[in-house]
Amino acid sequence: MLYLRIEASFFQPKVIFFVRKPILFANFPYLYRMNTLQHITKGLLRLAYPDDCPGCRKPALSGHLFCSECTYHLRINDMHRYRDNLFTLHFRGRIPFVSGTAMFIYRKGGRVQTLIQSIKYRGSKHTAFKIGLLYGHILKSAPLYQGIDTVIPVPIHPKKKKIRGFNQSAWFSRGLAQQLDVRHDTTSVVRLEMGPSQTKHNRWERAQNLIHAFGLTGSPSLEGKNVLIVDDVLTTGATLESMALTILPAKPASIRFCTLAMGLR
Ligand SMILES: [Zn+2]
Repeated sequence: MLYLRIEASFFQPKVIFFVRKPILFANFPYLYRMNTLQHITKGLLRLAYPDDCPGCRKPALSGHLFCSECTYHLRINDMHRYRDNLFTLHFRGRIPFVSGTAMFIYRKGGRVQTLIQSIKYRGSKHTAFKIGLLYGHILKSAPLYQGIDTVIPVPIHPKKKKIRGFNQSAWFSRGLAQQLDVRHDTTSVVRLEMGPSQTKHNRWERAQNLIHAFGLTGSPSLEGKNVLIVDDVLTTGATLESMALTILPAKPASIRFCTLAMGLR
């Protein structure tokens, strides 16, 4: 007699066959039959849709990053086309830079928030990388993002990296750099201070906390380079401003900014 059970765990879909109860049984109780069918359907769905969609955590289409709903609803905005936009408003008149852009607009409770949480707290570094590839493909043909020599992610402190396991901004920027076919530089700028959590501070407080947050190593040299500084989320702009102020003494030819998402003020 055949016995079967299929299980799907949340993080790692798997199918387990083992002996438990007869699947073909004359006096099969209706409820049990439904549960078994639900188990089988769920298991088969996991086989066809192996990964959760990072935008909504429902099963994604096999071979696709997002589910069909998120593919439809997640809009990559077009601020990379404009020199003055919602992103660059944060930095105009404060530091010299060429352009800045965010891939997505971040709204509380929206798909972008789920996407960022998926990357940050569920360890989906490959999602960050794939999204970087996607946006890099767009920036490659954007006039304001031509001539970039090096992509630098905002570094996180080694202690934080040890806790989280990876730097999500660095995986996003790795995708960007690969698509733009330029150097991905994770060594010229280092995080010197871990600093307190920035989420409850205003821009001035964040800026104060970040004054000595970053340092230059001098390797590789950034002199004469067109630099793209990359972070995951733009909130007040204090982190990117501090990065730019750290890099400026190295005499780069130009500075551009890019984040995966930005919040609206
Ligand atoms: Zn989705």
